[in-house]
Amino acid sequence: MKNFPNKNIHILHGETFGRLRVLDMPPERIRNVWRWWVQCSCGSEPFLTAGANLRSGESQSCGCLRVERCKEINTSHGHTSGGHKTREFVLWYQAKRRAQQENLPFEITVTDLRVPEFCPILGIALSRHNTKFEDNSPSIDKVIPHLGYIKGNVAIISWRANKIKQDASFEELFKIAGWVKAWVNNFTQGKGTACDS
Ligand SMILES: [Zn+2]
Repeated sequence: MKNFPNKNIHILHGETFGRLRVLDMPPERIRNVWRWWVQCSCGSEPFLTAGANLRSGESQSCGCLRVERCKEINTSHGHTSGGHKTREFVLWYQAKRRAQQENLPFEITVTDLRVPEFCPILGIALSRHNTKFEDNSPSIDKVIPHLGYIKGNVAIISWRANKIKQDASFEELFKIAGWVKAWVNNFTQGKGTACDS
């Protein structure tokens, strides 16, 4: 880390705490607390958590440990429905935590979430059982980001689509899509490329 803002911060990159591994990404200071990007070994979405919580053992998983413990206690029916519930719960739990950290509205319940078979944007099959967070992992999208996690504003899309969307404003997405589309149309119609004129 080059321009590390505070020499007193102990660098955690690569360390593991329970199921969480600290990713090689710069920490972020949110509400005066340094938070690190971590990834849970169950394959769920990377998230930010306070270094102090990692060291104290308070943060040990994305929430999946808690789900498993509950499941053990309840010893419910088939693995399939149990597994399905788990994935939605984990997505919900992580979103709730992000909402708290980012001070965003959070009004959804687990039952508002259902992982679809395919990403509604890219059409790729979504996996519920990735052991790493990958392009085909389901993730929650706040469609209009600043509105937060309110009913009607959340969709479960692939991590691939989420990554692309996260990095751009709507305007930028439309511009990129429009430009690429025009370029491809020109090209396939044998008019040369958009740069020729
Ligand atoms: Zn997990």
